[in-house]
Order: sequence, then structure tokens, then C-alpha cells
Amino acid sequence: MRDLLGGKGAGLAEMTRLGLPVPPGFTITTKACNAYSKSGRFPPGLLKEVFKGLASIEAKVGRKFGDPENPFLVSVRSGAKFSMPGMMDTILNLGLNDATVGALARQTSNDRFAWDAYRRLIALFGRIVKEIEGRKFESILDGFKGRTEGKEDSDLTADMLRSIVEEFKGLYRSEVGEPFPQDPETQLREAIGAVFRSWNGKRAVDYRNFSKIPHTLGTAANVQTMVFGNMGTDSGTGVAFTRNPSTGEKVLFGEFLPDAQGEDVVAGIRTPMNIAQMREKFPDAYGEFARAAELLEKHYRDIQDIELTVERGRLWILQTRSGKRSARAAVKIAIDMAREGLISRKEAILRVEPAHVIQLLLPQFDEKAKLAARREGRYLAKGLNASPGAAAGFAIFDPNEAESLGRDEKKPVVLVRVETSPDDVHGILHSKGVLTARGGATSHAAVVTRGLGIPCVAGCESIVVDFDEGEFRVGEKIVHRGDFVSIDGSSGEVYEGHIPTIEPDFAKEVDLQTLLEWADEERRLQVWANADYPRDAKRAREFGAQGIGLDRTEHMFMETDRLDIMHEMILAAPEYRRVSTEVRTLQAEIESTRADRRRVLEERLARLEPNLQDLSRRYIGSLEKLERLQKGDFVGILRAMAGLPVIIRLIDPPLHEFLPKYETLLVQVTKLTLARGNPDVLQRAARSDEDQAFLEEVKKAGGGDIGRGIEALLPRKQLLLEAVAASRETNPMLGLRGCRLGIMFPEITEMQVRAIFEAACQLAKEGLDVKPEVMIPLAGHVNELKVEREALEREARKVMEREGVRVNYKFGTMIEIPRAALTADEIAKHAEFFSFGTNDLTQTTLGYSRDDAEGKFLLDYVERGILPHNPFQTLDREGVGALMRMCVQKGRKVRKDLEVGICGEHGGDPASIELCHELGLDYVSCSPFRVPVARLAAAHAKLRNEVQRPEDR
Ligand code: PEP
Ligand code: MG
Repeated sequence: MRDLLGGKGAGLAEMTRLGLPVPPGFTITTKACNAYSKSGRFPPGLLKEVFKGLASIEAKVGRKFGDPENPFLVSVRSGAKFSMPGMMDTILNLGLNDATVGALARQTSNDRFAWDAYRRLIALFGRIVKEIEGRKFESILDGFKGRTEGKEDSDLTADMLRSIVEEFKGLYRSEVGEPFPQDPETQLREAIGAVFRSWNGKRAVDYRNFSKIPHTLGTAANVQTMVFGNMGTDSGTGVAFTRNPSTGEKVLFGEFLPDAQGEDVVAGIRTPMNIAQMREKFPDAYGEFARAAELLEKHYRDIQDIELTVERGRLWILQTRSGKRSARAAVKIAIDMAREGLISRKEAILRVEPAHVIQLLLPQFDEKAKLAARREGRYLAKGLNASPGAAAGFAIFDPNEAESLGRDEKKPVVLVRVETSPDDVHGILHSKGVLTARGGATSHAAVVTRGLGIPCVAGCESIVVDFDEGEFRVGEKIVHRGDFVSIDGSSGEVYEGHIPTIEPDFAKEVDLQTLLEWADEERRLQVWANADYPRDAKRAREFGAQGIGLDRTEHMFMETDRLDIMHEMILAAPEYRRVSTEVRTLQAEIESTRADRRRVLEERLARLEPNLQDLSRRYIGSLEKLERLQKGDFVGILRAMAGLPVIIRLIDPPLHEFLPKYETLLVQVTKLTLARGNPDVLQRAARSDEDQAFLEEVKKAGGGDIGRGIEALLPRKQLLLEAVAASRETNPMLGLRGCRLGIMFPEITEMQVRAIFEAACQLAKEGLDVKPEVMIPLAGHVNELKVEREALEREARKVMEREGVRVNYKFGTMIEIPRAALTADEIAKHAEFFSFGTNDLTQTTLGYSRDDAEGKFLLDYVERGILPHNPFQTLDREGVGALMRMCVQKGRKVRKDLEVGICGEHGGDPASIELCHELGLDYVSCSPFRVPVARLAAAHAKLRNEVQRPEDR
């Protein structure tokens, strides 16, 4: 039903069926909108249907549309399948003209009201249907308001409004070139067209791109009898949620504005009263509304966001939809509703989006830093805590600037506005936070940011925003454009300057933990984590990780205390390899050669041996040092994960990644050479931070003297440059890396395996249950795996024999090369587990460099729809996914109990997790912070087809 009628239309139909007081109306389907978008014309027969629908409303209300004696008015409201709050257009008060305005005044005995309605129609119609700039109407209105005492809309008299209507009509005529249409049917027809066109308006398209809503759905148009909340003090309008959308607390939550129309609440023009106060002022309407709200929540089995109007004491319900909620509220509401028996546990799990979990684990302000900011007098103001989370960024007042700074320059931005409107959405999307001076918890800013998970402080009335000056004032203080501000969307506080944020405390998120436990009971996929250090492993375990799917051991080599040892090892490795091969060849030749030749060979061997000893001291000696350090790392990580599997991947990147960059070295050697004998040059030429750092290095090498430093450093840098030049590759990602490196330099991976097993044996002797799994990266041919595995298992056995303990271990490989996936049956004979390295598998399957593609073309591809999404974020189902499917099937055919998982970045992406579930993987492995998200996403993957979601009903 929602496909055709849109959310609003479906809700209105359903509420009518439930017997709730809904103003009579009808809905034009999304299909008509799509036909209109294609041809620019209404589909044949549509207008006939529209006027038939209108006649049936006329029969219900007993009045005629456009009747100059007894008129009634209608609105045309947009409403798509998925809620897009404020992104499309709605036109109210259709049917008013120079004749009916008088009748309306007589009917309501309220001149002021009738003329106010008429001026609103001309402005809305002019702005939306004829695209006249809204500010032109605003400025006429402001001119009149300026002449009143209170300077508010409500201070305008009937006579003033009559004059405003005249001026609006004049503006309309001069802008459009024809008078404002007096024929109500023309108004209606044009309004329907404009609502359809608003589906393709910029803000709607931007919002759909951001929210991944298909552009093909179209919007429905609801034609509905107008009811008025601005008919005097016995009228009003409001918006209310059946539960608090920020906290999830089970209380009616919302706002009510007496003597006002719906748009006044949303635009934050006056600050409304709390819905609880409505109970005192409008007891009957409130009582009826509270009952309707309860009925709607029970009916839809979800929190409802309801628009209501009271017209001269009588309640009308204009809309109901499932309420947008903060992450915290989503979790609490899901759990509460399951406990209340309103929904099942499975539904509760599906009600919380993975994005909510991400948001709940968003950084918050460091309380200490916040207190310090208060003490320093940096507290500025408090507004409404409209959307939770903390944000700090440059105060920017213009949404266009917010967009370009946030999106293009990747700068943190806090967008500051008096109030936001749908025209600001592009700026909001690229801001870290939003601060508004006006508007309530249901204002545009609040609703949009909550949906997007962007922190927001709204209705912060003590700030005075001056858009033209690019500043806001709080008392004496002024915050200029570009100054840093910090806002706390959970408490509503606003501070000057930057307050650092801290990680959230997962342990305190009791509701989330409960929900994730429910998810754990449902999901089939296990969730492991990628962690390189014991502290990460511990955190991952706290988050619920069931193993470590990837320990990138090379990250440990990057630590400062190890980098020098690494350099020494890498510099000696190629020469060691060359000399040791020569020695082995000579030794073999000596064995098999004639005695006379043997002497010559022995002399050559004798000359080589001291060289080999020296190289061995540097190469093997460095490896021994690294072995001790690595053993410590492995003890830490295996201890932290005792009882659970830990996949340790042997060294993967090319060796020169551990050395300084060739270009940097070349520049340094050139500078040192030029500065020989003239050391001052170096000092004079040091301008950049990098130059300064280099100068410091030279000084240090010379004990404070630059000249001596040059002499000491130059030969070292030259040597390093030669080594880096020798190991340079044109395409290192496809070069000497992964298992290729281990095969060419077996001593490195043997060292790592010894360190793993020494650590494992030590812990096993302590009585811990350790489960190391040794993973070989980037295999493409089964023989690579065979060679590596034989050599490495030999090493593992030696350690276990020496230590006198047996540990349970597995040997396996990453699947990162299409050939490995294609020949998985061969590979599986020599691997006990597979782990999809989908970062590399995506790179090698699509032929996109993972380091360059995003910057160069990939994001453009996505924007232009050439690719549906970034394949480095979400698995390319048809390509990479197909290879994975084949790989799992072939692998498991050969080895039934083959353990298969994923450890590429996709392991934390909900859509990719769904694919991994379908492919029958055993686990997904992701960064520790993603573990809670993955636990939920894995349950969703399983439940998605089992349980219907409310919006699909
Ligand atoms: C991968 O390629 O997916 C992977 C996990 O390995 P890395 O990112 O270290 O290359
Ligand atoms: Mg890889």
C-alpha cells in the first residue's frame, strides 16, 4: 500500500479505517507522479478522477470547493513511500480567492484569520508553484510586522493582512506576469503538478542520494480538507511522539502551539508549549488525542509521530508515521516493546539499525574537559538536546560554505542557523553538528539531524545569530565565522572552543548489551575482530568478539623501538640471500667435484665465509631480536583471547614499506652532498617543518655540530638510498609481498612462526587454552602454500618438541587473488582455513588500486551511478561475491570442515555481512569498534527474511 499511496496516504487511509478523526480527503498515487515526471503532463483521466474525489469530499463535508457562499479549502500534501521529512512540498489553503476569503471570514466570524489564510496561500503557491523567491514575500511581511508593537505574526491586524494580500498579489503578478489564479480548480491542478515536481527538487534528490532511497519511487499527493489550528485561542496545532524520541521513555512527547498552523511548529517561528501543558488548556482534545495516540501505537506496533490540529476545540489527526528516533531511543523502545509484548524479540532486533549502534558508540565529550571549559568560562548557552552526540567544529553560518568545507575540505563544521529549513539540508549533511537559535524538538533541524545521526542543539534562544556579519552573540561574547564551537546534542550545552571527545563506555550501555545478547541468540555468523595489539584484542573481547580474525603482524614492526632493527634486517637481507645462496652452491659443488678443482672452490668459500658471518650477524641477529619482541606481542594477544581462536597473519607488505621513502632519501642525500663544506646552507634553506626535522637529525648525528653531522649522516643515507633503490618496484602491490616475500626470505616467516609457537607453548604450560591459527597472505598458486606450509610447520614442530608441549593450531591462507578463489579446491588440500582478504580481492578483481581509486575516480563513479556503491566499502556482490561463492563451494567440497571467514574492511559493513551470511561463511572479522554493529547485522542477515518489517506491511 505504501508503494502506491506513500507513507502519509497509507497512514491516512488506515486512520480513517480505524475511525479516527481524519479530515476527509483522497490520495493520488506515486504511479501518477512517475508518469508526470516522465512526460511533464498528468496521465490521461487523472484530472477526472481528481474532481470525482473532490466531489466525494464535498458530499462528506456538505460544502462546495470554491463556493463563494460556503466554501471549503483543501491542501495538497506530498508523501513518499519512505519518510523524507520536509524534503518535498505541501500547499495549504487552496480554494481561497477574492470571493471565498470573504465567505471564510463570515463563516468563522474572523476577518483576521481569513486574510491570514489567504496571504499564506499566495506566498506558498507563489513560492512552490511559480518559484518566486520566498524572501520576497518575507520582506513584505517583515515590513508590516515592523510597524506593530510586538513585531510578531500574531500582532498583524486584519487590515494589515488585507494590505499584505494586495502586496503579495502585486508581487505575484510582477514576478509571474499574470495575476494570482482565482479559479480554485486551476489552483488545485497546479498545486498537484508542483507537488509531483518537488519529487525531483534538489533537496529531495540530495536527501535520497544520502539516504539511498531509489529515485524511481515517486511521491503520492494527498488532497485533504483543510482544518485550521489558527482560528483563535480555542484552536492550535501540534506534533507529538508516542514515546520520547531522544530517550525512548514511554510518555507522550511533543509540542503544541495555540492559534497556529502546522508549518509554524515545524519552522520554529514561536516556541511552542510542551504537549503536557496542552492537557491543562485543552483537556477534552488532549484526552481524545492521548487515546488516539495509544491506539495508533498499538495498531502499528511502533512509536508514532503524529500531527494534530484542534479547530475550535475539535481534534483532527492529520498524519501518523513511524517516528524517527535517536539511537538510544531506538534500542530502548525496541526492548521495552518486546517486554510489553507488543513485538517479538526478533522484531525488536530488526527495529534497531546497525547505524544506531554505531551512533551509540559515538564519542562523547570528555567530562573533565567539559568541566574545565566551564571553569574557563567557555560555557555559552543551553538549548534543546535535539539529537545526541558531541561535535566540535568551525562555526559556519552558510549551508553552502558548510557543504564545501565539510565535504570538499574535510573540515569539521558546526552549522549555526536561526532555524533550518529544507533548503539547508545540503549543508547539514556535511556538518559534524547543528546549532539553531529557534525551534523545538520537532523542528526541522531536530528531525533531520536525528534521522541522520548528527548531533544537534536546537532552540538555543540565548544566542543571537547574525547571518550577515557571520557571527553569533551570547550576551557580551561573540563567536565569529570560523571560530571553534563545541555542542553537546545529548545535554543541549554549547561551548566556545574545542572540547575533546572520548570513546563511549560500552559497559554502561545496558539496553544495547541486552539487545545484542538477543541478536547473538539469533545469528549464525560468528563475529571476530581484527586486532594487532593485546589492548585491541581485549577491547574486542569486551565488545563480544569470538576470536581474532586478523592480526597484521607487520604493524608491530612499525613501532619505534623496532624500526631500527627492521632497517638493519632489511638492509642485510638481499645480500645475505645472495651470499648464502652462493655459499650453498659452492658447498654442493665441492662435494661433487674433482679434488684439484676442490681447492679453488674451497678458497673461494673461505673468502666468502667472513662476509656471510657479518651479514648473518646483521640479518639473523636482527631477526632474533625481533623474534623476542614478537614473542612478547603474541603472548599478549593469545593471553587476551585465551579459549578463542587467534589468526596471526605472517608478514604481508613489501619490505621497502618499512624504509624511508625513496624520494625523501634522494632529496636528503642531495642536500647533504651540496652542503658539504658549507653547512650554513642547510640551516638557511630549512623552511618547512620537514626541513627543520631533517636539520635536527643532522645536528643530532654531529653531536650538535652541523658539519660533523653531515659527514656522519651522508654515508648512512647513501647506503639506505641504494638499498631502497634496489628494492623499489613499479607496482609494489603486485610485487614482492605476501607469501612471495616469505618464500624469498624464509628466515623472516620462520622467525615469526617460532615466535608464535614459543608464545603459545609458554601459555599452554601456564594452563591457558590457546588456539593460534597461522595465516599465509596473498597466495595465488597452491604450490606457494605448499612450500610455505612445509617449511613453517617444520619450524612449529621443532618449537613444540623443544618445549615439550603440543598446542592445537591451524594453518591456512588468505584468499586475496582471484586465482586462489578459482582454484580453491586445490588450495583447500593444503589449508585448514580460508580468510577472504576482500580489500585485496576487490583490488585484484576489479583492477582498481585500493590506494588510488577513491581519490581519482571511484567516488565519481558512485556519484554518477556507474557503480552502485564503493566496492571497497560494500562487497561487489556480482563480481567479488561470485568469486567468494565459488571459492566456498570448491573449498568445502575438498575439506568439509574448512573454516571460512572474511577479514577485509567489508567484515564490518552490514550489507557485506548479509552477503557473508548467505555464502555460509563461519565468521566475519572487523575492527573492534565494529564488533557490536556486526553482531546486530549478522542477526539481521538471518532474520531479514523471517520477519516482516512494519513499513512493509
Ligand atoms: C585484505 O586484503 O582484505 C586484508 C585484510 O589484508 P590487508 O588489508 O592487510 O592487505
Ligand atoms: Mg591483503
